[in-house]
Amino acid sequence: MIDPIETMHSDRMKSLVEFTSSSLSTDYPSPFGASIYDAEGTLIAQAYDTVMREGDPTCHGEINAVRKAVKKVGSQSLKGCTLYSTCEPCSMCMSTSIWAEIETVVFGATVNEDASQYWEQPLDITASEIANRMLGDKCTVVPKVERALAQQLFKDWKAAIDA
Ligand SMILES: [Zn+2]
Repeated sequence: MIDPIETMHSDRMKSLVEFTSSSLSTDYPSPFGASIYDAEGTLIAQAYDTVMREGDPTCHGEINAVRKAVKKVGSQSLKGCTLYSTCEPCSMCMSTSIWAEIETVVFGATVNEDASQYWEQPLDITASEIANRMLGDKCTVVPKVERALAQQLFKDWKAAIDA
């Protein structure tokens, strides 16, 4: 049987990968994108990583999306929201998601198996472990949604920067 939640996560991830791939034709291509949907299912923020463009190491896709979302809702709390990321959130982004009270974090590619092929930055703590250690089950992490698409995005990004 088709799980409607799984289908929803897949659809939103596909749309995020498509959005993120639009960065590949800019001066600052990035495979890292994030989107946030509120409890009613409305897309309230979408962003990609702008670390290189801004020269700011905090400008990961997830952080940029959280900044847009809190401005849009006019509150530091994103309770009831779901965050999507093309790649497993790092500890900074996972912590930010938890401080923002985001209830579900869904990601595509993993850090250790996928992103580390391009950046030597393996993590010894996963996004799920951070969520579990900080707040028990208040933030649920859903890994590897449309992972193959996210992996392809990394390949496309590599081809774009090597071109
Ligand atoms: Zn991050």
